[in-house]
Amino acid sequence: MERTLVILKPSAMARNLVGNIITRFEQKGLIIAGMKMMTLTESLLTEHYAHLVDKPFFKSLLASMTALPVIVVCLKGKDAVAVVRAMTGATNSRNAAPGTIRGDFGMSGQENIIHASDSVENAEIELQRFFRADEIFEFTPANLKFLYAPNEA
Ligand code: UDP
Ligand code: MG
Repeated sequence: MERTLVILKPSAMARNLVGNIITRFEQKGLIIAGMKMMTLTESLLTEHYAHLVDKPFFKSLLASMTALPVIVVCLKGKDAVAVVRAMTGATNSRNAAPGTIRGDFGMSGQENIIHASDSVENAEIELQRFFRADEIFEFTPANLKFLYAPNEA
């Protein structure tokens, strides 16, 4: 099964959306394989957002992402990367479809509630960036046979 990284950004923390967002992933059938609270540093974020360092909004993004501690989550499931990106919605919350996390909870391009890995390759890199190996757990949920057919799991 695939793994992906979600970050509940300071905008989610400030607006008391943690339970709601985690509930959505739980209800979908994604397995929480790791979860912790941490303060992001500028050096970690510069690595994580390396594709954006030259953008005019980069400094503002750094300030936003360090404004409060965040919650980082490792979610597991079949096609988890694409499933979680679809649940996340478009980058700009104003363009994100209703029913998505950004579409339901935000009005901003920057303050867009969560981060979600955009490819299987990046998910693995990002999980290693934010978690130690012993912070991600290998276990078989008791309800697995009701989440997937035998040929899917
Ligand atoms: N961002 C922004 N303005 C932009 C584009 C991105 O403030 O014009 C912020 C926003 O918080 C976004 C993050 O930078 O989530 C990372 O951008 P990316 O293009 O990777 O979007 P994502 O993968 O988060 O949808
Ligand atoms: Mg991205």
